[in-house]
Amino acid sequence: MEKYDVIVVGGGMAGSAAAKRCAELGLKVVQLEKAQTPGTKNACGSAITATGTVYAPYVLEGPIEVKVPGSRVYYIQRNGKYCMFETGMGGYGMYTIHRTKFDPWHAQQACNAGSELRTATTIIDIIKEDDRVVGVITDKEEKIYAEVVIDAGGAHSIVARKAGLLGRRAGTDNVLYATAFIQLSKKVVKERFNQLCEWYLTLGGSNYCLNWLFPLKDGVSMGVGGGYMTPGLNIRQQTLEFLNEPIIKEKIKGGKIKSWGIRTDPEKIIEKTYAPGLMITGHAAGFVQPFIGEGMAFALMSGKYAAETAAEAISSGDASEETLVNYETRWKNDPLFKTMRIYGQTLKDYLLKRPQEEIINTMIAASHWYASPVPFMLKDGVKENDMRKLEKAAKLLYRLEALGLPST
Ligand SMILES: Cc1cc2nc3c(=O)[nH]c(=O)nc-3n(C[C@H](O)[C@H](O)[C@H](O)COP(=O)(O)OP(=O)(O)OC[C@H]3O[C@@H](n4cnc5c(N)ncnc54)[C@H](O)[C@@H]3O)c2cc1C
Repeated sequence: MEKYDVIVVGGGMAGSAAAKRCAELGLKVVQLEKAQTPGTKNACGSAITATGTVYAPYVLEGPIEVKVPGSRVYYIQRNGKYCMFETGMGGYGMYTIHRTKFDPWHAQQACNAGSELRTATTIIDIIKEDDRVVGVITDKEEKIYAEVVIDAGGAHSIVARKAGLLGRRAGTDNVLYATAFIQLSKKVVKERFNQLCEWYLTLGGSNYCLNWLFPLKDGVSMGVGGGYMTPGLNIRQQTLEFLNEPIIKEKIKGGKIKSWGIRTDPEKIIEKTYAPGLMITGHAAGFVQPFIGEGMAFALMSGKYAAETAAEAISSGDASEETLVNYETRWKNDPLFKTMRIYGQTLKDYLLKRPQEEIINTMIAASHWYASPVPFMLKDGVKENDMRKLEKAAKLLYRLEALGLPST
């Protein structure tokens, strides 16, 4: 019988963070990934915010595509005219990555620390004994056992579902996107984007959504959508409209679409992130910042906390809920996550009652403002009255940006 201390299901952000940390803590760990190579099954906007580097500073040693010092926001009108403003990020910036390059590197870091990686291995079920998760079953009908299973299987995790922790997600808790990687030469990317992430807000048409083009070394990552999954949302039409905007045609002229996908971003945290022998991390647990879609930072955070809790369970010989509850306590009490989450949720609840334009404007304003500098400002914890300051600042920022838009 094959037995490990820890099985990590998934070779994405949370999975490799968990496997790496488990190995560093001396645990016998195996990471199971359904793709031939980690990263090929993942779609993502590709920007790691400064928050991610707080949780996992080592990511900066990885294959970073572009260090992004700021961003541009384009407001496109129905007649194709637009206005644009450019903004810095308080000196903190973001880092774009190509998941097909970054994820293999990340999984390799886990292997370098002592973790075993098995690719082309899909988990189809969990093994339970006396109501405790004790292993997994692969598509090759192998049974692999462990003291603890860490689920990092992403938004549609089979493990969390089989364990009864992940139910049906509501439309208002899922953001729908079409994504593509568009290949362009390095020189063209530099000329057209100048290392800046670009957001496009198309107002006045049917396309009320948050679209982006993020610079990578050899092309751009495109995303269209960002709408909650309400009836009538037509992602195909939105994508076609976006690609037909004159400014977008210029930006991607000569480019080749090399890959594309349709993805959902679940942003409601599941009710319980642990069970006897099991912890749920990353996207599977719904760790995505409401509205902004920032999830990699929290995948890194939850992977790390799950690994540290697994080490405690193994050293005490107790992987029951009494020990694994510490995982939930860890992420719930993480000051940075707590603040970002409460703030994001407050903003979402407030904005969903507002007109569309205001929702989109404020999302963008707030994301620029807090995705990068704020984590550093708040590292030491946030008190009640700081939350009010954050809200006030976001409202002020929205008003300033709305007033100060230069027009073309
Ligand atoms: C369109 C889009 C854009 C985004 N843009 C950004 C962004 O710019 N910045 C940001 O911070 N976040 C972004 N996010 C969120 C971010 O992608 C996620 O938060 C992050 O990838 C979650 O990491 P994870 O490890 O939990 O899941 P994933 O990265 O999805 O990894 C899950 C892994 O598990 C594997 N797997 C799944 N099922 C099985 C199985 N049964 N057996 C074995 N392996 C399995 C998958 O192949 C995959 O490798 C975006 C999300 C979407 C949908």
